[in-house]
Amino acid sequence: MGSQQAAQIPTSFGHELKACLRCCLVKTYDQFRESGCENCPFFQMEEDHERVMECTTSNFTGLISVMDPTRSWAARWLRIARYVSGCYALLVSDELPDDLQNLCKDQNIPYAPPKRI
Ligand SMILES: [Zn+2]
Repeated sequence: MGSQQAAQIPTSFGHELKACLRCCLVKTYDQFRESGCENCPFFQMEEDHERVMECTTSNFTGLISVMDPTRSWAARWLRIARYVSGCYALLVSDELPDDLQNLCKDQNIPYAPPKRI
């Protein structure tokens, strides 16, 4: 995936903002429902709206916008240098449900559960 690609930028800020549980990308619920997560197409959120609820959470803190993930210090810190440009949560507190962690495992997709502080 090239660094040219960019994720949608949230069109509103508030309770409907969701962070992807795997890559921390932040968009509105509607944006996830319409086009899924740009970093995690294998979740196929746009195919199945319940998936959006499973793969995203409103339980996150911090919000940074990363325009060039290959150069940003924050992106390096978040280990998202390989992700598309977009808005990211600094900390996502929820874990992916087990069946989706298994989906990642089956497809050799790296997933790091949230660090417990
Ligand atoms: Zn994602």
